Amino acid sequence: MIDSTKRNPAASVTLGGELATGLDSNERLPARLESFGILKQRSDNFTAWAKSGVIQNLNRLQKKIVDSLDVCGSFLLFRQYTSANRTRLIGGCTCKKHLLCALCASRRGVKNTQAYKEKFNQLQAENPDLDIYFLTFTVKNGDDLFERYSHLKKSMQALLKKRNHQSASHRGIKTEMFKYTGGVFAFEFKRGAIENLWHPHIHMLALLPKGLRVDWEILKAEWLEITGDSSVINFEKAENDNAFLEVFAYALKFSEMENIDRWNASQILRNERLISSFGDVRGVVVDESDNDDLLDADEPFFDMIFNWQAGRYNLSMKVEHNSEAEQFKRENALLISSAMRCTQSTF
Ligand SMILES: [Zn+2]
Repeated sequence: MIDSTKRNPAASVTLGGELATGLDSNERLPARLESFGILKQRSDNFTAWAKSGVIQNLNRLQKKIVDSLDVCGSFLLFRQYTSANRTRLIGGCTCKKHLLCALCASRRGVKNTQAYKEKFNQLQAENPDLDIYFLTFTVKNGDDLFERYSHLKKSMQALLKKRNHQSASHRGIKTEMFKYTGGVFAFEFKRGAIENLWHPHIHMLALLPKGLRVDWEILKAEWLEITGDSSVINFEKAENDNAFLEVFAYALKFSEMENIDRWNASQILRNERLISSFGDVRGVVVDESDNDDLLDADEPFFDMIFNWQAGRYNLSMKVEHNSEAEQFKRENALLISSAMRCTQSTF
């Protein structure tokens, strides 16, 4: 199985940590704040670089993007449930620029992983004979990112179109992809190690009924016929959640890219839908909010606001909600949280 710890420590520490069982226990809050701090610091480093004048001729929209990145994660609002011993992230300020912002990329990864894991679990509960496979599709590296991305996207569309045609009993059209009952995939981009060319690839999770065997040589030949330049498909059975982390982690690897590449790629890809699904996995609705789920309203709780200062999150306000006399503070807390919300979006 993929060892995401070795390949991308940051994804493992933050995204994997965010999905760990018991993560939201009150005792784990300091560790969680530290993880958010690592991500925030990474965004701060990028913002400082972007504001240093190295990017020439920023237009108004681009300046706004950099500004929103700057304030993203400047505070975090947590609700701590005292008797349930749970702490949930309930507010904050986010930029939603997941191609540039490590914090937003992580929250997006968490939300996608939760939503698709639930869907896969549900499909496997309905049909225990389904196994999950992790596949990676690549095309030849190239120097034009958008051209290579478009080529990969169109190639995958063509492969899945064959699958649709076979489902619709179009005569003579067959593909090994038909054996998968459904799947989800995401695009990832980085520079290749050898010639420094762009290396776009697709990570996919797909469901295969036990007892069905995909003929990889045939699938690779199909892929070569479609792409004209690559027969490379890697595949393995997904034995744990690492495969979900790998698919939904980051479209642009934060630890493996130069800032200027990240910036240019984010501008080229900013309107592209980089996650897609097919077959039985279609139709998953991903919660667009970055918040954790709230617990039952009857649970006693208090809220804590942490501000980002001097490279760490510091507690700046604690608002109790435990008695009728605290009603004023309860209302005030809502005002506080809405007043602190950013114009772009909120956790
Ligand atoms: Zn952000």
